[in-house]
Amino acid sequence: MKQMLVIGPDNKKVKVVDKNGCSTNVGYDRLGIATGAVSVEPDIEGLQLPGVFTLRGMDDGSAMQNYITKCNPKSAIVIGAGCIGMEMSDALTYRVSKSRWLSISIPF
Ligand SMILES: Cc1cc2nc3c(=O)[nH]c(=O)nc-3n(C[C@H](O)[C@H](O)[C@H](O)COP(=O)(O)OP(=O)(O)OC[C@H]3O[C@@H](n4cnc5c(N)ncnc54)[C@H](O)[C@@H]3O)c2cc1C
Repeated sequence: MKQMLVIGPDNKKVKVVDKNGCSTNVGYDRLGIATGAVSVEPDIEGLQLPGVFTLRGMDDGSAMQNYITKCNPKSAIVIGAGCIGMEMSDALTYRVSKSRWLSISIPF
């Protein structure tokens, strides 16, 4: 697995680094960037408090699961009632006794 660091459009090369920190330049004719997305963090006070999570990858899911196991919360709120939020709300009903979802709109 290599991480892209720099795009050089003039010489049509990208600089990539591997997990050992060794970097190389790789040439391209056409460049497609498909680096995914990150969770939208709305401007809400307290977002960084313990017990508040965003969900994107396995690490986020594991952190949430560890918190539930360790702290045994009695209720949960899911902010965002899109398909992931609804799925999370369903999953949390099996792990937390009172689970509710809350729909908010975030401009983007
Ligand atoms: C909780 C959750 C559940 C989901 N469930 C479903 C589902 O059931 N069905 C469904 O169809 N979709 C589901 N989705 C949506 C689906 O996961 C995404 O739509 C899909 O993964 C997007 O694919 P992608 O290739 O655009 O991005 P990603 O899958 O995010 O892939 C981007 C890749 O780019 C890599 N990358 C980032 N920066 C660099 C860099 N500088 N250099 C090199 N590599 C880099 C990342 O490490 C990653 O491997 C779910 C999403 C979430 C968050």
